[in-house]
Amino acid sequence: MLLKGSCHCKAVRFSVRSHEPVPFMRCYCSICRKTAGSGGFAINLGADFTTLKVTGREHLTVYRAKLGRGRRSPGQRHFCSLCGSPLWLWDPRWPELVHPHASAVDTPLPPPPKVTHMMLGAKPDWVALQAQRGDARFGAYPDESLAQWHARQGLTA
Ligand SMILES: [Zn+2]
Repeated sequence: MLLKGSCHCKAVRFSVRSHEPVPFMRCYCSICRKTAGSGGFAINLGADFTTLKVTGREHLTVYRAKLGRGRRSPGQRHFCSLCGSPLWLWDPRWPELVHPHASAVDTPLPPPPKVTHMMLGAKPDWVALQAQRGDARFGAYPDESLAQWHARQGLTA
């Protein structure tokens, strides 16, 4: 499906084609939490980088997460430099993909039938785990990709 998104101040707008538009994956890692998840987690979608169209590109700023010992994540987290909204992640290790934050998407997204909770090992105690029966839970990374999950649910758009 075609996703349209924007930052809060609307200086940056984007559209992108997504085969993985269901916002089912909650990531509690410290990077997602600090940069895009005041509720305790962030939700990233899967989309096709070659279809990404951006207006207001001059207002983008990129953060590469600090990993300790001077290392930086290769993942490029894109934000609006004016209002600070987290917009998407692009990683040169998977250059055909782009991961918009669900919070930046204005197109109504399909509600997830189940939720996957990942990086629970990094979840602080104050974040209540809002899990339903049947939700998958992982201390670190899940055992399937965004695309595999969508295929298994029959939800590939
Ligand atoms: Zn903005």
